[in-house]
Amino acid sequence: TMRESYASENDSGFKCLNPTLRPIVVVGGYGQLGSLFCRLFSLSGYEVRKLGSQDWDLADEILADAGMVVVSVPINQTEDIIRRLSNLPEDCILADLTSVKSGPLQAMLEVHNGPVVGLHPMFGPDIASLAKQVVAYCDGRNPESYQWLLEQFQIWGATLNRISAIEHDQGMTLIQALRHFTSFAYGVHLAEEDPKLEQLMSLSSPIYRLELAMVGRLFAQDAQLYADIIMSSPQNIDMIKRFHQRFGEAIEMLDNQDKETFKQAFGRVENWFGDYAQHFLVESQGLLRQANDSTHR
Ligand code: NAD
Repeated sequence: TMRESYASENDSGFKCLNPTLRPIVVVGGYGQLGSLFCRLFSLSGYEVRKLGSQDWDLADEILADAGMVVVSVPINQTEDIIRRLSNLPEDCILADLTSVKSGPLQAMLEVHNGPVVGLHPMFGPDIASLAKQVVAYCDGRNPESYQWLLEQFQIWGATLNRISAIEHDQGMTLIQALRHFTSFAYGVHLAEEDPKLEQLMSLSSPIYRLELAMVGRLFAQDAQLYADIIMSSPQNIDMIKRFHQRFGEAIEMLDNQDKETFKQAFGRVENWFGDYAQHFLVESQGLLRQANDSTHR
């Protein structure tokens, strides 16, 4: 068949695990992450259609024979846009790529009676390949009908991590919301203090350069995305407030020149990390060696 010959000609791409799938529609397919996934699906021999913000007049046609619909739109619009997808074919897989999972998964299960899966690629659009990247996924409904999709991600090089939506969102409170917020606050602080960035760079050890890179890269990305991620749940804001409180308590210690309390707290944290403290020391040495090699190339 034509599909088979396309799949076998597709030697610059990837093996296609579901060659009989009807078209894949990516809602938000012109966006950053959406276009990355459109490219990957196309390279794997799937027929891909994009449904952009201007295309809703044609939505019925675009969606009519969809085999899978993937939602990749701004976080704050995701649930509303999912609710517009009420007429999908019964066997169509409905998936999303949103950085938060509970709300979108719930909305997908409500609007569609067929297979549903929530996906969170733990990477941005700037990666060169999916090798070693993680995709978290939350089962929604009829998991047997989208196993091929999970395997397709593995063919692209990704590692899959199955998790419930609630646990995912709890984990992201630390992994995304707090981390991005501390980067944001550090960036605001740097900009206010206004040091000469070049001089900072020339004085910095590799580990500080990495820290600067971690913070600086945030500001090369989309402000709306990070505002949405950080403020996506009250739990995130509660967590950030607890961090702020502990920060304040630590400042008190400084005002009191209280090195004893500092050392006690240090010891408690050291114990908490346990064997990981040593492990992280070794791992960061390896990372720094790599970072060093690449800056001297
Ligand atoms: P983006 O702004 O680049 O893309 C969103 C796209 O949705 C845009 O093309 C926009 O025009 C389109 N859109 C807006 N309203 C629409 C509508 N009513 N109908 C159809 N399309 C509409 O954002 P992005 O960074 O690609 O993020 C998209 C999703 O991917 C978000 O849910 C985000 O949480 C998730 N995500 C992003 C990253 C990342 O680093 N960028 C990482 C993981 C997950």
